[in-house]
Amino acid sequence: MTESTSRKQLDEAEVVRRIWAAKAKLGRDLVILGHHYMSDDVIQFADYRGDSLQLAQQAVSHKDVKYIVFCGVHFMAETASILSQPGQMVLMLTLKAGCQMADMAELEDVQTAWEALTGLWGDDVVPITYVNSTAALKAFCGEHGGITCTSSNAPQICRWALGRASHVLFFPDENLGANTALAMGIPPEKIAVWNPSKSMGGDARLEQATFVVWRGFCYVHHRFSVKDVETVREKYPGISVVVHPECLPEVVAQADDSGSTSYIIRYVQSAPAGARIAIGTEANLVYRLDKEHPDKLVVPLAESYCISMARNNMYDLLETLESILEGHPKEVVQVPPEIAAPARIAVERMLQES
Ligand code: 13P
Ligand code: SF4
Repeated sequence: MTESTSRKQLDEAEVVRRIWAAKAKLGRDLVILGHHYMSDDVIQFADYRGDSLQLAQQAVSHKDVKYIVFCGVHFMAETASILSQPGQMVLMLTLKAGCQMADMAELEDVQTAWEALTGLWGDDVVPITYVNSTAALKAFCGEHGGITCTSSNAPQICRWALGRASHVLFFPDENLGANTALAMGIPPEKIAVWNPSKSMGGDARLEQATFVVWRGFCYVHHRFSVKDVETVREKYPGISVVVHPECLPEVVAQADDSGSTSYIIRYVQSAPAGARIAIGTEANLVYRLDKEHPDKLVVPLAESYCISMARNNMYDLLETLESILEGHPKEVVQVPPEIAAPARIAVERMLQES
């Protein structure tokens, strides 16, 4: 039996004990970062929890640690690798935790869109990639005067871009792009959608657009509907509805408020005792907030889980930590230097503007 198979057969109490022991042995050489969508059995071991922006900031601020273990999805670990210091290592619990939305924009397709848009507008356009994207797209933005954004700083970053050019190409999340543009007062007729599976050349909507958004989406958030908002309001009269900006614009329009995962957490924390709140985001976070605030009712707008985040479990966390101690680190994420260097320009621009 391999070491790895035998770990899978341990009982949970033993796994928990060995994870704490491995953490203690690694001491100051290690930091564990965990995204809010992680389940409780994994997040309990995180030294820092946060949204995508906060975790990137934590990765930068831990300049002296040797190992950054990321409980999240691949693009988050890639961002940490892009920002890492020489000699630092970024590891995941499993490299299988990808992000379906990040896979909806490929470099070649973005280059095709870019050629078409620069054909229309010359250099009067700035590319913005949501951090939920591959390192190659971050590098593309770094090389073309562009920038990355997260759901918590999208409005600032889009203002930054529109201070430099009259047009934006935003990928890969159509909903975050459209919601941000609408909130900035850009009229719907000035927002065009780039569909990578169709030829968009000569499309009249493009010519008059200020904001071009990529046809990509997060299935965890795209599934929330206006009907869900109506249903929860009927069931709990007076309830507030707060949703993530990866939701459809018509859902955001019906909600009382919208914001990133950390914004949603602050919303619940600052609500008065007795408040009732329905949340349109990943269910692990919603149920955790309900548990942490027994004086409030916190319910999911509908139950929606991210299967990529759920690929992380405590058995794999143990395996990653013990692989470091055994001298054969596993699930290492290392962005090649020729991609990391331009990608870092785009990510650091964002961190400066945040
Ligand atoms: P934030 O962490 O920016 O809220 O984004 C949510 C998300 O979808 C991460 O995958
Ligand atoms: Fe990707 Fe959506 Fe899962 Fe976030 S919640 S990792 S955007 S699929």
